[in-house]
Amino acid sequence: RATHVASLPSAPMNLPVVAVVGRPNVGKSTFFNRVVGRRDAIVDDAPGVTRDRNFGRADWTGCDFFVVDTGGVVEGSKRQIDRLVREQAMTAVTEADLVILLVDSKTGVHPLDQQLAETLRKSSKPVQLVVNKVDNLPGERTHLEFWGLGMGEPLPASSVSGRGVGDVLDAVVARLPSSEAEAAEGDEVRVAVVGKPNAGKSSLVNRIFGEERVVVSEVAGTTRDPVDHALRYHGRTVVFVDTAGIRRHARISDSVEYYAGLRTARVVREADVCLALVDAAEGFRAQDARVAQTAWDAGCGLILVCNKWDLVEKDGRTAQEFQREVGRRIPFLKETPFLFASALTGLRIRNSLDLVLQVAERRRRRIPTADVNEALEALTRRTPPPHIRGRPLRLKYATQARTAPPTFVIFTNHPHDVPTHYRRYIANFLRARWDFTGVPVRLRFRKSGEPKQ
Ligand code: GDP
Ligand code: GDP
Repeated sequence: RATHVASLPSAPMNLPVVAVVGRPNVGKSTFFNRVVGRRDAIVDDAPGVTRDRNFGRADWTGCDFFVVDTGGVVEGSKRQIDRLVREQAMTAVTEADLVILLVDSKTGVHPLDQQLAETLRKSSKPVQLVVNKVDNLPGERTHLEFWGLGMGEPLPASSVSGRGVGDVLDAVVARLPSSEAEAAEGDEVRVAVVGKPNAGKSSLVNRIFGEERVVVSEVAGTTRDPVDHALRYHGRTVVFVDTAGIRRHARISDSVEYYAGLRTARVVREADVCLALVDAAEGFRAQDARVAQTAWDAGCGLILVCNKWDLVEKDGRTAQEFQREVGRRIPFLKETPFLFASALTGLRIRNSLDLVLQVAERRRRRIPTADVNEALEALTRRTPPPHIRGRPLRLKYATQARTAPPTFVIFTNHPHDVPTHYRRYIANFLRARWDFTGVPVRLRFRKSGEPKQ
């Protein structure tokens, strides 16, 4: 299962790279062999043996990454060790997406651990602290003193037995950039126009593609599907998925709610952003809520287009009233932009494309782990987590595991018991902090490594 390679090609097949650093004899090569699945490697008992760095490919729950074992450090004067430790760490760090700082539970916190921690802190790389040789899990708690290194939660592991290594890899994988999601991110933004029959979908699409001022050019040959339409806007390719039926005013299939719903469910899966059209003259109806919900649940960015605003304005109703009323009925729509437009007159049609680009951008945003944890601290300070069966719910640390839509993994002592109201609070806090307006923010809760009390 492991592929051992002699040297590390730069960005090997675009796999993320994890570097294992640590002072001599903490068990780096044992850990490395455990992770890449090589059991036959020679582990030298003598400390301070210089080795070449090892590279290996690891596969954990379908996520592949490269592991770099940074090898031992030559013994010598204190100065020399300092220098070598720093050099070794820094080389590995520059190449890595994530650094595992490995320490030894048997020796406790060592001055060299502190030096390494200090060096790593200065780099902007995410670091996972792993305490090796915790051989008596789940009861043993010797790893807890390594909180003192100030490198976040120390995860315990026994590389010799393999215990705890799975939890470590869970945490590592969660913090790695997701290669598939990032690979799929081109400069292309895929848009779905959804809404119940007669909301004005065909009018909007035709207006967008007919509007000379908006459309720089309809891009030929760039779309994946012949029924899609693309245009260039502000240097981006915007692809309108599944527009053929819409442009023909194909109301035969769209006339029944069932089919309309089916189409929505299908196209939102292909889209980055949905323009959900509401017939504002008619008001916001249950079917409109279902359409928006489908898009939101699929992880799409969402813009609520209140179409036919030309008719509404004559009645003197205001946009604010309309928006407040909808938000009161459907709370998640408080988090999405509203556009009061008219496909008929062209009112704010150009703004719809500006909003699409904005929302698409937000949806692909990646927040550095340090910022995520700052936010986690701030939000628990403002509203402390509730107690679960008499015990405090602890949110240990968090990281953004995925983009598009942004997905945050939060490590906690009670992953299955975080109450809905607190989840909503966290999601809204994170959304407000980084302006994820129009973007569904997802949370995943994972068990943190601390043994049960
Ligand atoms: P490195 O210098 O950091 O690469 O450390 P090694 O992998 O060579 O391991 C140093 C020593 O620690 C060896 O004797 C290993 O057998 C031992 N060791 C490694 N992992 C564990 C562990 O999980 N538990 C115990 N008890 N010993 C370990
Ligand atoms: P679709 O079924 O969602 O594709 O809706 P259509 O684009 O076919 O529009 C349904 C009807 O609403 C047509 O008669 C359009 O002319 C009309 N319509 C669409 N947009 C507007 C608008 O912004 N204002 C007004 N007054 N009528 C509109």
